[in-house]
Amino acid sequence: MCGIIGYVGLRDAVPIIVQGLKKLEYRGYDSAGIAVWGGNGFDIVKQKGRLNVLEERLRDCTIKGNIGIGHTRWATHGEPSDTNSHPHVGSRSKIAIVHNGIIENYKQLKELLEHKGAVFASQTDSEVIAQLAEYYYNGDLLETVIHVSNALEGSYALGVMSLDHPDTLIAIKKDNPLIIGVSDHGNFIASDVPAVLQHTNKVYYLNDKEITVLQRNGVEFYNINREPLQKTAETISWSADSAEKGGWEHFMLKEIVEQPKVLRETVSSVVNPGNNREVIDKIDITKFNKIAAVACGSAYNAGVVGKYVIEKLCRIPVDVELASEFRYKDAIIDEKTLVILISQSGETADTIAAMREARSKGAVCLSIVNVTGSTIAKESDFCVYTAAGPEIAVATTKAFSAQLAVLYGLAIHFALQAGELSPAGAKGFLAELEALPEKTEHILGQIDLVQKHASECVGCKSIFFIGRNIDYAIALEGSLKLKEISYIHSEAYAGGELKHGTISLIEEDTLVVAIANCPRLHGKIMSNIEQVISRGAKVLLIGNVPQAVQDDKLSVIALPPSTELFSPSLSAIVLQLFAYYVAANKGLDIDKPRNLAKSVTVE
Ligand code: GLU
Repeated sequence: MCGIIGYVGLRDAVPIIVQGLKKLEYRGYDSAGIAVWGGNGFDIVKQKGRLNVLEERLRDCTIKGNIGIGHTRWATHGEPSDTNSHPHVGSRSKIAIVHNGIIENYKQLKELLEHKGAVFASQTDSEVIAQLAEYYYNGDLLETVIHVSNALEGSYALGVMSLDHPDTLIAIKKDNPLIIGVSDHGNFIASDVPAVLQHTNKVYYLNDKEITVLQRNGVEFYNINREPLQKTAETISWSADSAEKGGWEHFMLKEIVEQPKVLRETVSSVVNPGNNREVIDKIDITKFNKIAAVACGSAYNAGVVGKYVIEKLCRIPVDVELASEFRYKDAIIDEKTLVILISQSGETADTIAAMREARSKGAVCLSIVNVTGSTIAKESDFCVYTAAGPEIAVATTKAFSAQLAVLYGLAIHFALQAGELSPAGAKGFLAELEALPEKTEHILGQIDLVQKHASECVGCKSIFFIGRNIDYAIALEGSLKLKEISYIHSEAYAGGELKHGTISLIEEDTLVVAIANCPRLHGKIMSNIEQVISRGAKVLLIGNVPQAVQDDKLSVIALPPSTELFSPSLSAIVLQLFAYYVAANKGLDIDKPRNLAKSVTVE
């Protein structure tokens, strides 16, 4: 994943780069590094560990310069170590690079370069880029970068500096995100917009194999044949504050609490006239005989909820597919398939590949994405944006809720189009959708209750989540959220599946979180609850159905009334808070869980 940033301008690059890296740390945090041109060569400081370790080291040295590059790493090749941290330089220390991505042919290139005398310092795939650049370098840095790009296989977003050009930074990308920010005091490259928001809201989005030459006074764009390109800057509406923690202990809690606002804006954007609405109106569902929802992680779980909603309202079959599987399975899709791609960042590598596979088979792609100008947003046939704003915590909360809101909006629209819903029926569902922000506020008013239940789970080794139908769909997300940030083993099961195996795992005091919002299945889930209680489990019931089982081992968190189809949006809030407080009680690093990173731009 990794975050890269670069600056060339009038100000000291070091604090600007460090501050930008802080905004990118969600992308990787096993090591970090910075290189600046200090007037006498490159000054490089890089260090295993979190960004604060690098910051401490920077306090002890006095590196300074008006041009530099920085990196926060999520290792793919070579363990996290000082040497494997970026930036990397070639053997002659003439060219320094930062890289996000994976160079698939690095072994062949390394062998070739070693043969030519290059001496490698690290075990990374990335170092090959710096060594190759020095090998090709003939005084023309732009030409060098073009040569390097032509030799590389795999994915990369690159920032490149050369000793001979202390006023120039070059950037190029392929299959990994990179934006160019322009401000009155200097220009930037970055993996994501929040890294530059304090300085500018004017950004350019790079397409694959587009090259940017950045100098203090301006930026120039070229294609891979060195022909100049005209690109238009976009104005970002996110404020710099929206990517700040603003007094909250963790971004995750801040983002959970922001959900009423996020839901209000997202729902409004799919219901009322505007960009999203225009896009939705252009899709004619009657042209399709099936839908495939394709995504990874929580976005996949949003797709599972979407399947229940769309199938129920529109009577059109929906397959939900993991993008990493879909891309390699020779999916049975054609021009009569609507593929819905769901990705917060719009840069998820597997989802991008799945989209390209789907389009090559003639399917029509509709994306639900949070980041404007991202690869999936640009390459899909239709894109509906979630209005979640920047999401910094690695575990998604508000973007997930916004994805659900979009899926509800789509389902209602498609059902009307398909003649499965009358205008009066649609009105009722739209009212449910528009009521979600207020109901979310109500749930947030019960934080203390969720916190109390979570405090009883610190010692749990395993927690199970059960539900039936759409409650099962949201149980998947509750379980994922918990394991991501609390490191407690957890699994989600359809209530009816318990007896087919999982019930053997229930022991005295095992916690089972049961979700119960389907009145027609109330009796069924209550039977499952009794079955696990009679085998010693404790149950936390989350739902809006009246409690029937009275037992010391049963606790309840009641949800505001809602129809079954919309209840996942409400259960989600409790499940997010529950996971958050379990992790908080264990004193864990909630925003940056171990081994994970946000925006999974590698395969
Ligand atoms: N492959 C590079 C490394 O391991 C960059 C990793 C990434 O972008 O995630 O250092």
